[in-house]
Amino acid sequence: MITSFASSAYQRISQLASQPRVHQAFQWLHLHEKQLRDWQLKLISIPAPPFQERTRAEWLRQQFEGLGLSNAHPDPEGNVLAELPGTDDTTCVLLSAHIDTVFPAGTPVEPLEDGDRILAPGACDNAAGVTALLGLAAALKHTQIKPACTILFAGNVGEEGEGNLRGMRHLFQRSPYKERIGSTIVLDGSGTETVVTHALGSRRFHVLLQGPGGHSWTDSASPNPILVLSRALATLSNLELPGNPRTTLNVGVIQGGTSVNSIPESASAQVDLRSTDPEQLIRLEVLLHRAVEDAVLSANLTAAARGRGPLAFRIQTMGHRPAATLPEDAPILQSIRAVDRHLGLRTEPRISSTDANIPLSLGREALCIGAGGTGGGTHTRQEWYDPTGRELALRRILLLLLDQCQSSAAMQPIAAD
Ligand SMILES: [Zn+2]
Repeated sequence: MITSFASSAYQRISQLASQPRVHQAFQWLHLHEKQLRDWQLKLISIPAPPFQERTRAEWLRQQFEGLGLSNAHPDPEGNVLAELPGTDDTTCVLLSAHIDTVFPAGTPVEPLEDGDRILAPGACDNAAGVTALLGLAAALKHTQIKPACTILFAGNVGEEGEGNLRGMRHLFQRSPYKERIGSTIVLDGSGTETVVTHALGSRRFHVLLQGPGGHSWTDSASPNPILVLSRALATLSNLELPGNPRTTLNVGVIQGGTSVNSIPESASAQVDLRSTDPEQLIRLEVLLHRAVEDAVLSANLTAAARGRGPLAFRIQTMGHRPAATLPEDAPILQSIRAVDRHLGLRTEPRISSTDANIPLSLGREALCIGAGGTGGGTHTRQEWYDPTGRELALRRILLLLLDQCQSSAAMQPIAAD
């Protein structure tokens, strides 16, 4: 049983790592790379485009059930959840990995093997993370470790692109687990030493301008949506963006018009704003609205003076990921640093946009780490994953997970008689 609670994080980790059952779990992971690989190959071969994760989710639910986890079920958003009950079952630690991929339906997903390498869309992002979930569940069940609090395993939907973190939002906003989750460990992609502590925030907008359009000669007094949109975008391009906190602005798509001799009826652009600081995102959003409004207003004044119809505009939010930072003294950060010290790893902090954005933005303890091995070509059809060395990352996750269970259980108020 894992019940000890030493004063410092490093002592706690050393004690955990010296427990015979934890050794057995390490041993299980050491001996079962073939099993992990088989899971990963099967998982990769089940397509999971955004909003179409159901088949993969059902496969994962069956694996959770087969491993003997409790209450394996899909939630209303499509996340697959399962529990490993702990000594304290009022609290849980969430261990999650997103099951969706960026690849649209119809993308060939059958994996190829080249030596140790697995080549397939989604082989690394995030088949590596989901495989780690299964490996850890199997190792914990096999060794009959009873964690200090319940572990909630989640294969969540909607991490990529327009999924807009919907799986994680559901878990923290509407699910019955939302109050019970003490801390969150997100597994995403490969890597053994990185830890995402800065949640990169983003806001994405679709800007649309519409007007009467017309003939380039006879209606030349009509306002031109492409030119007016261009003016607004030029204003944005002249903004000074801070390097610290790092903040970026991108216009990724621009559309409009039908022919060279027509004044277009519409023009649109897609704008992506990113920052580690939520206030910068708000500031930029205001400036985006102002730039579009000013450009349209001024064009409409000119058009009205010439007796021409006005332009209308609409700015729609396409996606929103909140920015947040895990405080340097957060217990979960001390815990991963202690684990890394124990395992002889460097802890490499990173800034990224992951499922951990949601709990972090709510002031909850969360971080995102890799599921081991190496990978590349993420989000392309040339994506690959090599599991060499995966075992070390799984040990890292296991120690962090069990330690978080101890800390989460300890945070519970003790009921008075
Ligand atoms: Zn991912």
